[in-house]
Amino acid sequence: MGEPEMQLQIHNTMTRQKEVFRPIVPGKVGMYVCGVTPYDYSHIGHARAYVCFDVVFRFLKHLGYEVTYVRNFTDIDDKIINRANLSGEDPLALSQRFSQEFLKDMADLQCLPPTHEPRVSDHIDQIIQMIQKIIDNGCAYSIDGDVYFSVDNFPKYGRLSGRKLDDNRAGGGGRVTVDVRKRNSADFALWKSAKPGEPKWDSPWGPGRPGWHIECSAMSSHYLGPHFDIHGGGQDLTFPHHENEIAQSGAALPESAVNCWMHNGFVNRDNEKMSKSLNNFFTIRDITENYHPLALRFFLMRTHYRSDINYTDRLLETASDRVYYIYQTLLSLEEALATFREGILADRIPLDVQQLTEKFQSGFLTSMLDDLHTSSVLDDLMEPLKAINNNLKKFKGKKQQMPLIQGLTALEKAVKDPLRILGLITSSSCSEILKQLKDKALKRAGLTEEYVLEQVEERTQARKNKEYAKSDKIREDLYARGIALMDEPKGTVWRPREPPESQFDSAVPETKTPENLQSKLQDATLSSPALKPADQAARQDLPPENGAKSPDPASPAVDLS
Ligand SMILES: [Zn+2]
Repeated sequence: MGEPEMQLQIHNTMTRQKEVFRPIVPGKVGMYVCGVTPYDYSHIGHARAYVCFDVVFRFLKHLGYEVTYVRNFTDIDDKIINRANLSGEDPLALSQRFSQEFLKDMADLQCLPPTHEPRVSDHIDQIIQMIQKIIDNGCAYSIDGDVYFSVDNFPKYGRLSGRKLDDNRAGGGGRVTVDVRKRNSADFALWKSAKPGEPKWDSPWGPGRPGWHIECSAMSSHYLGPHFDIHGGGQDLTFPHHENEIAQSGAALPESAVNCWMHNGFVNRDNEKMSKSLNNFFTIRDITENYHPLALRFFLMRTHYRSDINYTDRLLETASDRVYYIYQTLLSLEEALATFREGILADRIPLDVQQLTEKFQSGFLTSMLDDLHTSSVLDDLMEPLKAINNNLKKFKGKKQQMPLIQGLTALEKAVKDPLRILGLITSSSCSEILKQLKDKALKRAGLTEEYVLEQVEERTQARKNKEYAKSDKIREDLYARGIALMDEPKGTVWRPREPPESQFDSAVPETKTPENLQSKLQDATLSSPALKPADQAARQDLPPENGAKSPDPASPAVDLS
């Protein structure tokens, strides 16, 4: 971090530009990210936000910062109460149950637990104290047991979102409801008087519960102090939620400030905005039922966090394929190097490998320091992986091949370090992950492994009998369902494989000759998957001013021989 160009730059929604990140206290970072309202299973939009901020958390720690990461649970809310009323369940029990489901999803997605995960119901005292301060400072008023924030008394209102007060009248989106008793229709509730059957707490204004926005002001200042480094959330929270947070915090404690506001982009589906009304919505559970959670994480990180992501099954298939390729490479490498764990001797690493690893490592840092360009890192990763596979082909497992052993060891480290920092290495072994990826692929194909093995056997027989049309058809039918057969010296094996384009783009069925299918499948075993049009679509990167890097898939991999 010595050179000036090695500084971390993060885009700040407040100033609408990338800024050098400078922590308030050297070596420490305080980060608050708005959490979920647990009234149902969490959806892919949540996965996106929390994978994004998990990457921020992990990368800041990698840079050596001591990070205090706070992510709340909104465990009291209209949505929770409505859902609980429908099912006859206690609202707090319902939110507790879905909080646990959310945490399971987070663990599946390899999101590290935040430092603190406060719940609204445990912080009612802090919330009441803050509301009282806002009233004392003349920025809120109470009517019939409700307390409202008075936007007219907070001149800076609207700075984050760039909205004028008029935009917020008559609802203005979010959870503001029209109430004729309010002084300004843009005023929002800090405290809601209790309605029959709702959870309630005593307060100076009578029994009730907090409004939605106040909790984040109260809990962020409780855990991080009024002035902290990073506040994050989905782009949809910019207004009104974060705007209201700024107003509440500033009205209660004038020294309140957030140095950097970070917002992640939306998730669309088939280029349409995902929404409950369009019924094109996915829960995280819907997706991990059929795809490995690491594939979902990889998919989410393949787009820069501020751009919108377009969800298609095709892109999930591509992500699964990449994750399989990564783990297959790591497993082959582990097996090859099993008896040669001697540590890296820098002077024995071939020069071209040294250059490749250095280029990749510095590229990783450059991309991540530039507003966390995970998309570039994941594309760049394919080059060292390809080099590993190329060199494994030459490795005969002999000690005399010392430069090869040293080169492969150096490449292994170069690849594993960033994968670990990005949360793509789990505590499971490579073979366990590969088995899980295979199981998901079988599930998507609607096949059992027994059936696939029977088909392999049948094809072997057909080939022995020179019935090539039959053997090609077996291979082609399986490939159409995402199962690829590889002929290796020890026999035919299978692996999951992104099905051909025609399986997704049904408009123009693609006809394949066995020859080009054969070469496509051979590519699948040891070479880096070629970038396909679907990948280009995935890289809907940012406008040029954001410094989007375009990867160079054609650059040759290093050859150790
Ligand atoms: Zn919040």
